[in-house]
Amino acid sequence: MAPDSTNSLLLRGARIIGHDRVIEQGAVLIEAGHIVRVFDSETPQLPAADAVVDLDGLTLFPGFIDLHIHGAAGVDTMAANADDLGRVGMFLASKGVTAWLPTLVPSTIEQYEQAIHAIEKAVAQTSVCADSGARDHRLKSVPPARVLGVHYEGPFVNSEQCGALHREHFRPYQNAADLDALPTIKHESAIHMMTLAPEIEGGVALIHELHRRGWIISIGHTRATVDVLDEALRAGAHHMTHFMNAMAPLHHRAPGPVGWGLIHDQVTCDVIADGIHVDPSILKLILRSKTADRVSLISDAIAPTGLGDGEYHIWDEKIVVKDGRTQNARGSIAGSVITMLDAVRMMLSLGIFESDVARMASLNPARLLGIDVDCGSIEEGKRADLVALDEARNLRLTIVGGHVAFQ
Ligand SMILES: [Zn+2]
Repeated sequence: MAPDSTNSLLLRGARIIGHDRVIEQGAVLIEAGHIVRVFDSETPQLPAADAVVDLDGLTLFPGFIDLHIHGAAGVDTMAANADDLGRVGMFLASKGVTAWLPTLVPSTIEQYEQAIHAIEKAVAQTSVCADSGARDHRLKSVPPARVLGVHYEGPFVNSEQCGALHREHFRPYQNAADLDALPTIKHESAIHMMTLAPEIEGGVALIHELHRRGWIISIGHTRATVDVLDEALRAGAHHMTHFMNAMAPLHHRAPGPVGWGLIHDQVTCDVIADGIHVDPSILKLILRSKTADRVSLISDAIAPTGLGDGEYHIWDEKIVVKDGRTQNARGSIAGSVITMLDAVRMMLSLGIFESDVARMASLNPARLLGIDVDCGSIEEGKRADLVALDEARNLRLTIVGGHVAFQ
């Protein structure tokens, strides 16, 4: 049993899904929250460590990163305080997620401000790494998954592709003041991401402005034509949100966002791999076209995730969860109730290689967010954000920044 100390920790005996190879019977040495060495089975003698954990029969993946999640464990990111977000982070760590971007639905400025206030606190609390010396007492026992920043899903999106979002809060974009009105997180490491529709009034100007400010830009909730999408790409948008969901579908005479996204190698995308939002055969089609280098897995999970079937009140409406499928009063699917672990299992069940699934669940999201120097793969020098699964794909261990977060 590993202590939650910040001293050295040796994980041994695992199959390791490494950055460029799979190592059978490998070992990982962690010091001060980071991976300092990865050993293969040829290593004659492993170094001593303050704690050793045997992972025989388990497979070690990089920790999963969820770019798009509205809540879980009964907590909605629009209504959460920092402690609530900590609870979500603990739940997520128990599902293999080591970092996440709380995602906000279109709302009033007052509601945004309340949500951002909580996220700002959660970013500060969870960004403390094991080697910082800060030893934040809130992290001493069980560290929650790290809150990376915020993902604004809207409000600058197309009202004809609202999905479960409330169109009364959608806005056109006139000038930078419209962006200034959205609260941001005052923490140096905080990431800001926005999903937008380039075809709305001012959409391409908005992309230019977000690009200038260093935001991560994603195209979604859109019916854009190929011409507008080309403009969006030139302006700095090269990612697409829950590809195929909440966008005009593919038509052979009107390629739209789906046709455009499939054929542009500069464009990456994310998918809700629950088998409901996108049929498993279409997941395979997306992978054939985009390859595992350009697809990230997301959950798009909502507050009831982890609570089971039932009726829930979220976003001022009733959302029913039945047999793992969500539905609002308008009959729309309203997000998912899966976690990244379920998404990973879905992709593995389709016969996708573990190394490709690891890219989609960890490295690609880290690359999109520009944090892949620090996390997203099992490599020397990176943060020790790690997940061990058994042969039946049950989660057996999660390590966040070198701390055992779930065992
Ligand atoms: Zn969403």
